[in-house]
Amino acid sequence: MERIFETIIVGAGPGGLTAGRYLDDALILDQKEEIGLPVQCAEGLAKKFLDRLGIQPNPNWISATIDNTQIILPNEKVINLRVKNGGYILDRVNFEKFLAGICRAEIRLQKRVTEIEKEGEIWQVKTQNNETFRSKYLIGADGPLSIVRRKVFQEEVAVYPCLEYLVEVEKEVDCSTIKIYFDQERFPLGYAWIFPKSKNTANIGLGSGGKTDLKAQFKDFMEKTIKKELGNYKFLKNISGIIPWGKKPIKLVKDNALLVGDAGAMVDPISGGGIGNAMIAGEQAAKSILSKNVNSYPSKIKFLSCFNRDLFSAQKIFYSFDNPTLNEIGEILEKADGDIFYLKNFSVFPKFLLKPNLRKNIFKFLKLLFVYRNYTRLPN
Ligand SMILES: Cc1cc2nc3c(=O)[nH]c(=O)nc-3n(C[C@H](O)[C@H](O)[C@H](O)COP(=O)(O)OP(=O)(O)OC[C@H]3O[C@@H](n4cnc5c(N)ncnc54)[C@H](O)[C@@H]3O)c2cc1C
Repeated sequence: MERIFETIIVGAGPGGLTAGRYLDDALILDQKEEIGLPVQCAEGLAKKFLDRLGIQPNPNWISATIDNTQIILPNEKVINLRVKNGGYILDRVNFEKFLAGICRAEIRLQKRVTEIEKEGEIWQVKTQNNETFRSKYLIGADGPLSIVRRKVFQEEVAVYPCLEYLVEVEKEVDCSTIKIYFDQERFPLGYAWIFPKSKNTANIGLGSGGKTDLKAQFKDFMEKTIKKELGNYKFLKNISGIIPWGKKPIKLVKDNALLVGDAGAMVDPISGGGIGNAMIAGEQAAKSILSKNVNSYPSKIKFLSCFNRDLFSAQKIFYSFDNPTLNEIGEILEKADGDIFYLKNFSVFPKFLLKPNLRKNIFKFLKLLFVYRNYTRLPN
C-alpha cells in the first residue's frame, strides 16, 4: 500500500510553500516545471508580513526596497504618501525558491491535479499522469482557479484580469517608490501602477473591474503616461494574470480540507495584493493541522484584510467617486503633506465641506473615513 501522507498541499506558490514550512509529513504537488515560474505578479510585499513570519529580508530575493507610495490623480497631481513601515519589490522567482528551501514538506513538480475524491477518511488526489496520492488532510493553495475549491467546496469566485509587463525604460526609475494612478475615465474601477525592479526596469500594469478594453487602456497608459515619465520603452516579459474577488465570504474548511491564499480569494480588497495574506493563511492552516483542530483555522486568520467586509464597501465607495472628486481628495491630502493618517482626524471634516464635489458625496466620504479609522486600529 502506498504511503498515506498526513497532508497533501496542492500548489507551490507563497501560500502552499509557507504551509509546507511547518509540516514534516506533507507532500506539495504543483503543475509547474520550475518553482517561481511563470511570474504573474507586480511582486510588492509589505514588510509587516515578513516580520510576522520571522523571515529576514535577503538581497537575493529583493529587487527594490520601498519607502514611498505616490498616488497620481486624474489631474496628474502627485501625492507622496508617507508609508509607515514600507515594503519590498520581490524577485518572486528567487523568493519562492527561498521558501521552497526552508520547506519541510516534500515538493513534486509537473504534477497537475485533475481529480480529488474522498474514500472514508482519506483524500485521494489524482494527477494528469494517473498517479494517486493519499492524505488525511488536504490544503488547496492552488491559486485563483483552484481545483480544490471547485471540486471539494463546490465554490466559484469572481476573478478579474490584470494586464502587466516587465518593461525596460529609457529614463532612470526611482527604486524606492511605487506609483499608483487613479483615473475613473482611463482605468474605471481600477488603477494602473509602476513598481520598480531596477534602475531601468519596472513592473507596469493595469487592473480594471469595469467591462472595458484593458488592452486599449494599457496601450494608452504606456503611450501617454510612461513615455512622458520614463521615455521610450521595451516590453521584456508578459506577467499578466487574474485576481480572485471575494464578493461573498466562502467556506474555508470542509472535511479536513482547507483553502489558503488565492484559492480562498484572500486578496486585499483595496490593493488586490495577496502574497502576504496567502503566506499567513498557509502558516495558520499548517498550525491548525498540527494542533488537530482544523476548524479553528478561519478564526485564526479572520484579522486579515480580505475578511473585512467594511473594506469591500470602502472599495465600492472609493470607485464610485468621479475624477473631480478624486482630485479634491488629492487637494486635501496635499495640504496634509501626504500624511494619510491625517484623514483619521475628524477635524478635517469642515475642509471637505468647502470642496463642492466632496460636499455632494459627504455621507459616502464619512463612511469611508469610519472604515479607514477602524481598519487602521486592526492588528497587523
Ligand atoms: C498582475 C498581477 C499582479 C499582482 N501583484 C501583486 C503584488 O504586487 N503584491 C501582492 O501581494 N499580490 C499581487 N498579486 C496577487 C498575488 O500574485 C497572489 O495573491 C499570490 O500569488 C497568491 O499566492 P497563492 O500561493 O495563494 O497562489 P499562487 O501564487 O497562484 O500559487 C498557486 C500554485 O498552484 C499551482 N496550481 C494551480 N492549479 C493546480 C493544479 N490543478 N495542480 C497542481 N498545481 C496547481 C500553480 O502552478 C501555482 O504554483 C498580483 C496578481 C496579479 C495577477
